[in-house]
Amino acid sequence: MSMFGKGKTCNSADRIPAVCNLVLLGAMGSGKSALTVKFLTKRFIGEYDPYLEDIYSSEEIVDQQPVTVRVMDTCDQEGPVNSERYLSWANAFFVVYSIDNMESFKGSHLYLQTLALHNKTFRPQTPIILLGNKLDMDRYRLVSQSDAESLASRFGCLFFEVSACLDFLSVKHVFYEAVRRAREA
Ligand code: GDP
Ligand code: MG
Repeated sequence: MSMFGKGKTCNSADRIPAVCNLVLLGAMGSGKSALTVKFLTKRFIGEYDPYLEDIYSSEEIVDQQPVTVRVMDTCDQEGPVNSERYLSWANAFFVVYSIDNMESFKGSHLYLQTLALHNKTFRPQTPIILLGNKLDMDRYRLVSQSDAESLASRFGCLFFEVSACLDFLSVKHVFYEAVRRAREA
């Protein structure tokens, strides 16, 4: 039987509803809120309160199994501070940067280090997905795929590139992938 990190089963045969807590981390402006809104509403909202941090909830069916996906859209103004609020809450993490912004990519190192440290002592291991956003800005790309891939493999995490303002399905895919990883953890 597969188990969720918070001790809730996610087997379809069980009556306990499964919950999966996802946390989006990363530099301001990388598109965490836009990705969250896209996943929840299928729409791209260009201007979103940059200082808003909140938790949203959505009923989903991932691989024929219902799951309540809770998404914490964080807002750190100076990198990973007060990380206790999400470290033990999360079933999976997204570390988001923007492919057209090198600072945001450098910022993702700090988050990965914080999470790696957490995963050293925390069981089960919380899966991490490195997420390059703003793929629609490919012509202004400053972060290569291979640099991101090697960073991801250094920290043992998955890596995807998406865009909050292109198709919904690829955004949905990465959120569902996070749920799958959390189920396996
Ligand atoms: P956050 O600070 O990480 O929550 O970033 P936001 O979601 O507020 O996005 C910051 C800015 O980037 C806003 O102006 C968004 O419209 C823009 N943005 C977010 N995602 C994308 C994307 O995929 N492509 C493009 N071109 N702009 C995006
Ligand atoms: Mg935001």
